[in-house]
Amino acid sequence: MKEQDMTIHNPTGLHARPAKVFVNTAKQYQSDIRVQHGAKKANAKSLISMLTLGVECGSEIRISVDGADEEEALAALVTAVSSGLGEEEHMPAQTAVSHPAPPNGHQTTTSPTAVLPANMIKGIPAAPGIAIGPIYHLQHEEITVDETFRGASEEEAALQKAIERARGQLVTLRQQMLQSTSASEAAIFEVHQEILEDPDLLDAVLERIHRQQSAARAWQITIDSRAKAMAALNDPLLAGRAADIQDVGYRVLRLLMGGDEQQVSLPDHPVILVATDLSPSDTASLNRGKILGFCTAAGGPTAHSAIIARALSLPAVVSAGTAVLNIPNLTPVILNGSDGTLTIEPDSAAVAQAQASQQQWQAAITRAAASAAEPAITQDDHRVEVVANIGGLKDAQKAASAGAEGVGLLRTEFLFLERTEAPTELEQFEVYRDVVQAMSGQPVIVRTLDIGGDKPLPYISVPSEANPFLGERGIRLCLNRPELLRQQLRAILRAAAFGPLRIMFPMIADLSEWRAARAMVAEVQAELGAPDVEVGIMIEVPSAALMADAFAREVDFFSVGTNDLTQYTLAMDRMHPSLAGKSDGLHPAVLRLIARTVEAAHANGKWVGVCGELGADPQAVPILVGLGVDELSVSVPAIPTVKAQIRSLTLTAVQTIAQEALQCSTAVDVRERMRTAV
Ligand code: PEP
Ligand code: MG
Repeated sequence: MKEQDMTIHNPTGLHARPAKVFVNTAKQYQSDIRVQHGAKKANAKSLISMLTLGVECGSEIRISVDGADEEEALAALVTAVSSGLGEEEHMPAQTAVSHPAPPNGHQTTTSPTAVLPANMIKGIPAAPGIAIGPIYHLQHEEITVDETFRGASEEEAALQKAIERARGQLVTLRQQMLQSTSASEAAIFEVHQEILEDPDLLDAVLERIHRQQSAARAWQITIDSRAKAMAALNDPLLAGRAADIQDVGYRVLRLLMGGDEQQVSLPDHPVILVATDLSPSDTASLNRGKILGFCTAAGGPTAHSAIIARALSLPAVVSAGTAVLNIPNLTPVILNGSDGTLTIEPDSAAVAQAQASQQQWQAAITRAAASAAEPAITQDDHRVEVVANIGGLKDAQKAASAGAEGVGLLRTEFLFLERTEAPTELEQFEVYRDVVQAMSGQPVIVRTLDIGGDKPLPYISVPSEANPFLGERGIRLCLNRPELLRQQLRAILRAAAFGPLRIMFPMIADLSEWRAARAMVAEVQAELGAPDVEVGIMIEVPSAALMADAFAREVDFFSVGTNDLTQYTLAMDRMHPSLAGKSDGLHPAVLRLIARTVEAAHANGKWVGVCGELGADPQAVPILVGLGVDELSVSVPAIPTVKAQIRSLTLTAVQTIAQEALQCSTAVDVRERMRTAV
């Protein structure tokens, strides 16, 4: 047996991501590997037990390795710990959410200072649309656990069978999610599979079975204790993981007791579901015919449940506070997923108004879908290109049929995440080529790797940073690892032979970064004899917007990343749940930076796109068009409605509105102005 004591220097200790890197490293070896922290011991191949160790920054751990490959295993773990375990500090421990997901571009916040009517509760809009009906408090079907012990081998077999079936259900759910939405949302169910396969969890259940407990009882007790231990660590990120453990636990328990697909028990008429929070499985298994929408007391717009609600087109309000839990069952309400309100016992006038809005909303969606292939031209003949933000080939295929006039942002991170080594040039080339071909001649903007900060990679070691969002992120990381960027540029430029392709660099803050990256494009082009392509930058850092005139002389185009531009302008973490209501891209400070960027670009004969979530926000579209933005790049489902909205505008009118917005004092004022303007 080999042992080594080590101090953990990761700022948040052995938190989810570093712990995952540690566990994945351990899993590559056959030896038995244990980690001791104080009196607690964990199996290093079990994510759940590693997390429950609660190792904080500065804590000492002892790694003990016993087995045939103990030397190599210990060396690999020591190296992994010393090099920071793919360090990240500020990102919630979720593989599912790599970008904040505002409510499908339909966020319209009610002024926080406005006085709400007494019968109205305000939460965060999570998925657009209006639902009218009675509320129903979510109750899981009670499971009576059979405690009869039928012999160890029979109980073990029952457990294995239930786990197998649960795995099958999770694979199906993941596939359904992949078809209706994108990979990051589907990854929720990958996390669940990981929990299902946790060796330590399984050992603990088997041990109980060998102590003559029924499989169901053993499973229930083990899951409860694991989830409680994780929730007790008093960390909101791990509390989310605890909910995932409970969710998987419930799924298997149901199967063990002879149940089938997980269903929430509901009355036989349509209802608006109310719950503290909804698990991903709850949301995915909701019977669409019976659910009109949902409202949760907790959660945020980036919660799994909100993401899935958007994928299922269910109106949803989250983070409405515990008051919603006290509304009596079956009370009639109006749920407005577009402005985040819940109106309790509305009077007949309010119901009539909500019904009218609901019909308009439905009709508008149908009309928009029917004319999705038409260009977006304003009433006074001004054309705005509407293109897609995509995360891979599947999205490209959907984009083409949703009326996208190209791809404004291909987030290449998807190729690099969730793997243990970088993709090869060939692998990258094939994907870029396939995306370009899927867009059949429409232009595709490929953004170079935007990693670091909130998106660390296990195979790229970045020294621990106190403020990763202000650290080695995006282009900075790539310029410090020129081989990584060079290889990606080679793959992109090879794919350029198969269709119109443009290159875009993320997180540019300084002209020297742009020039270094641009120079590398020229070198690779010469090396490959590749065709000329347009090369542009994202405007996501205030310094780039302020220096837009200097950049505009050299770049081919700008694309404003409003998610980051808002984050850096307002100094508000884009993932921060309690700042979600305030971190608004319609803040006049952000709008002034966009206006300045457009002015500088047009003065130099260059064009400007917007590829942040703001580009699909109905209150922002008129302002962005009025400011002269030439292209809006939005998520695939938003393409038809954004195009339809542009067709309803008049350029001269929105130019006036945009100038007024620039003169507003706050984002709330801008939104108030927009409520009456369009
Ligand atoms: C942005 O910051 O607005 C953007 C589009 O980039 P990402 O969301 O990928 O950081
Ligand atoms: Mg960004």
